[in-house]
Amino acid sequence: MYTQQLTKPQYAGRGMTSDRTRGRLIELIKSMGVTNKAVLSVMQSLPRHIFVEEALASRAYENTALPIGHGQTISQPYTVGLMTQTLFNKPRSKVLEIGTGCGYQTAILAPLCDEVVSLERIVKLHRRARDLLYDLGVRNVKFRHGDGFAGMQDFAPYNGILAAAVSEDVPQELIDQLAEGGRVVMPVGKDQRQVLIVIDKTSTGLIEQEIEAVRFVPRLAGLG
Ligand code: SAH
Repeated sequence: MYTQQLTKPQYAGRGMTSDRTRGRLIELIKSMGVTNKAVLSVMQSLPRHIFVEEALASRAYENTALPIGHGQTISQPYTVGLMTQTLFNKPRSKVLEIGTGCGYQTAILAPLCDEVVSLERIVKLHRRARDLLYDLGVRNVKFRHGDGFAGMQDFAPYNGILAAAVSEDVPQELIDQLAEGGRVVMPVGKDQRQVLIVIDKTSTGLIEQEIEAVRFVPRLAGLG
């Protein structure tokens, strides 16, 4: 039987920004606490301006969230770095991402694991990210349109789950689709009161920790 080779992408050399522009952003997020070398290296090699509209490209190397259309935002680079290093406290082969958005976080996850399943509720964002990442040479991501908070049973279990939209609770479906030893990193709460949490699934139960206060766009309802 033919099986698709899941090769990890490499970004070095792509895009028009100088390494220095990206380097300054990396130094900043490093000083804020993102210290995982593999994460910093991927963020250094991946241009961010290609994920936003041309009019916003000049602001792509600031440590801020930016609009990506449809009322959504590309996450702040520091937050992307923090969530990614929190997820990869150890190697994680298969990761479920909730909220593909523009695909920036997805493109960071792809080189760090064997396979990513990325779910997005807004079909136009789903298609745009899928096509952009294809052009970037990313081949180890499965993009699906739908409610990410229901997870994706077809490809479960996952060693890691990361969500980029805030939910008031952690859906049981996500816990069920997590492998033993797996970790969820997601914002929970509402409006101004949101916190990034980590849940580890161990042989004896779930262990939950709070990381820090964050600000994310709200979870959208399912397709009904
Ligand atoms: N990591 C993305 C973040 C985008 S913002 C980026 O850097 O671009 C959060 C995303 O979650 C938005 O694209 C939003 O449409 C998506 N989203 C919100 N509710 C969702 C749901 N129920 N299922 C899947 N995606 C959802």
